[in-house]
Amino acid sequence: MEKVRLPVVQGEMFAGPAPELESSLLADGSRKLIHPADVRGRFLTARRLVFAVLIAFWAIVPFLRVDGRPFLMLDVEHRRFFIFGGVFGAQDAWRLWFILTGVGLALVITTSLFGRVWCGWTCPHTVFLEAFFRPIERLVEGPREVRVRVDTGEWTTSKTMRKVVKHTIFVVLAALVAHVFVGYFVSPYRLWAMIFAGPGKHPEAFAWAIGLTGIFYGNFGFFREQTCVGVCPYGRLQSVLVDQDTVVVGYERPRGEPRAKASEKAKNEDLGDCVDCKRCVVVCPMGIDIRNGLQPDCIGCAQCSDACDEIMDKLHRPRGLVRYDTTRALDGGKRQIWRPRAYLYVAVTVVWVVAAFFLLRGRVAFEANILRVGATPFVIDGDSVRNAFNVHVVNKGSDPVTFELEAKGEGVSFVVPIKRSELPAFGGVDVPIIATVPRSATARPIPITVDVRGGDGSLRTVSAVLLGPGPFGPGPSGSAPFRSAPPGPGGVK
Ligand code: SF4
Ligand code: SF4
Repeated sequence: MEKVRLPVVQGEMFAGPAPELESSLLADGSRKLIHPADVRGRFLTARRLVFAVLIAFWAIVPFLRVDGRPFLMLDVEHRRFFIFGGVFGAQDAWRLWFILTGVGLALVITTSLFGRVWCGWTCPHTVFLEAFFRPIERLVEGPREVRVRVDTGEWTTSKTMRKVVKHTIFVVLAALVAHVFVGYFVSPYRLWAMIFAGPGKHPEAFAWAIGLTGIFYGNFGFFREQTCVGVCPYGRLQSVLVDQDTVVVGYERPRGEPRAKASEKAKNEDLGDCVDCKRCVVVCPMGIDIRNGLQPDCIGCAQCSDACDEIMDKLHRPRGLVRYDTTRALDGGKRQIWRPRAYLYVAVTVVWVVAAFFLLRGRVAFEANILRVGATPFVIDGDSVRNAFNVHVVNKGSDPVTFELEAKGEGVSFVVPIKRSELPAFGGVDVPIIATVPRSATARPIPITVDVRGGDGSLRTVSAVLLGPGPFGPGPSGSAPFRSAPPGPGGVK
């Protein structure tokens, strides 16, 4: 079948002879199924070790507790987020932004320095696919040559049986992955109880588990590299983060070219080290020929490097014809990983860390807001004017919080029925406050503040303004013309 010739992404990093990109697409736009060949090598061994650690971590984390709280759980239902032992409520969403941007920034720096090392070594998509789904496929359906032959051949009983077995295991695995994933949103103990209570008792959770199982099964069973090629935005972003001084998996063209069979090389020393065996191509999970230069689809997994090292070992030539290195060094230039761009990213990160430190340090265990009560901005009572407010206090943590309220305002008398209270974990309370001033003082809005002080000394101050008709506004007799007071919780900060 004819391969598609795709335009090469322009730029220095992709410089080289006009490449023909191996890809996962056929000429008619349909997908070419990729069956990576088996490979062995130092990078694969190291990656498998990393996969094992990450999978163990991923499976254990939902059970980890810090001071009785989940180590990591996104309790969307109750709008509580437990992150590395800290507790964040809906009011802390802006603080979560710092954590998310921190992760994004770490990814930017890592990509700038080491290319798509995240994709090839730690992305959950790669980890699950390479650690579970591909090995099972290899076990049930055999090595690459057999899989390619069977997949392009007629349906037989053996082929049908193998497909049924493989996909049955895939569905079970996908369900397992989906349930552990749900464990990051619901306590695993609660999830366990839900599973045993049956779908009828918790239809929503059941629907989530089924939906996620379907997504994971579809992704790992069929979609595979298409997720990296067509869905993941990070893969597309790498073109602007990577330059000639980024460490990527690449082919040392000056050493490898002109490529020729090993027997020809024995006769002509001027030929390159690449013997055009295409081992680097058939082991690639993305269907790439790395000899065509770095390509946007490359996930930096180094399977091609392991494969080429194997060949070089057999030929008694030095390893590293395909290796981790900068494009500049692969082309014969000087390696310079630390460069102005990298320093700039580090500087931005330092500023970010300092800002995040001070902002997260200023976090108090509770949140307070003040709201005007009802639709009436004020009530006239003889020579006095009353304004009513609710101070809403929320405990954002998983420990009880004691707080005290103190209202202040010049010439204002307050009625605060609850001056001291204890809030349970994640609890909230509305404390009514009545503020009264002489009518003669309401010629202009009067500012008031309410200090909400936690037992640990933390302080939140909320403010509002008192409204009134003014000395000559409508009174109980209604003799003066009525002036509308501004609606809503004016002045609340
Ligand atoms: S594995 Fe090495 S020698 Fe074989 S084709 Fe690839 S680069 Fe050339
Ligand atoms: S070209 Fe090499 S590093 Fe890139 S995806 Fe293929 S095997 Fe992995």
